[in-house]
Amino acid sequence: MTTLAITGATGALGRLVVADLLESGTAPDEVVAVVRNPAKAASLAEQGVTVREADYADPAALRTALEGVERLLLISGDAVGARVEQHTNVIEAARDAGVAHIVYTSILNADASSNPLVDEHIATEKVLAASGVAHTVLRNAWYSENYTTQLPQYLATGEILSATDDAPISAAARADFAAAAVGALRSAGAESRTFELGGPAFTLTELAEAITEATGTTVVHRVVSADELVATMTSDGQDATWPNIQARVDRSIAAGEMHTDSKALEELMGHAPTTITEVVRAAV
Ligand code: NAP
Repeated sequence: MTTLAITGATGALGRLVVADLLESGTAPDEVVAVVRNPAKAASLAEQGVTVREADYADPAALRTALEGVERLLLISGDAVGARVEQHTNVIEAARDAGVAHIVYTSILNADASSNPLVDEHIATEKVLAASGVAHTVLRNAWYSENYTTQLPQYLATGEILSATDDAPISAAARADFAAAAVGALRSAGAESRTFELGGPAFTLTELAEAITEATGTTVVHRVVSADELVATMTSDGQDATWPNIQARVDRSIAAGEMHTDSKALEELMGHAPTTITEVVRAAV
């Protein structure tokens, strides 16, 4: 029996990973959900999954939670700024508990990107490399849902506003990244690997066309400069912190850094990724 542990198991990606594992034949008693809030994990426990409580900030709890685990999926946390220390706690606890392989969710082109979110992922990849534990790095592109959750705004304004220069984006459905993580957990061995994971690329003009077709409401992609993007996003008095990050993300996309020709997503999933048209139709 191989014991697989998933951190962040009550998050959006973690829930999809656990569901995919169980649906594709892994026995519930082989799955450990590591969560910071067990109250959110009641449905996982009801399915027979072992739920263990550990916060990324609590090395002792992490060490106990990872006891007997062979392979671990470390889902990156959401506390930007605190993540290197948090992820280091998980990696060191896994090493001390004798975990044989760690799979980690990083970001696409982490070592060659100006995306403002890459630094903590690269630092975590370095901690993994120094840990001595075999590991798989899943450099995930954007979730397509980062865009489809903004559908109401796109439909209300009739436009997608960006500073991406309409460059291609290899986003993929969150469920596809979950399926790839399951594939990586199942195929994890003694060797360490890094995969660039992205879906069929689309531009935001193509996204606008897919939304127009699926809803009957015309939506267009309007390309602006980074300064215009920030000015527009802050015209209602909104704080500039997020708009500035968004502008840097868009310029990174414009530089081709959220694009990959890699077929690793499909290979790890074992089937073709969902297209943006399908994700839009599902969201509508
Ligand atoms: P999510 O729904 O926010 O899930 C994050 C998970 O991390 C949650 O389960 C959360 O626990 C857990 N977590 C956060 N801080 C923790 C801590 N201190 N100790 C223990 N657990 C902690 O995000 P997601 O959609 O599943 O995505 C997974 C990760 O991918 C994110 O955390 C982020 O690093 C990254 N991400 C990627 C993209 C992309 O487009 N590729 C977009 C957004 C985020 P709770 O359930 O208790 O909140």
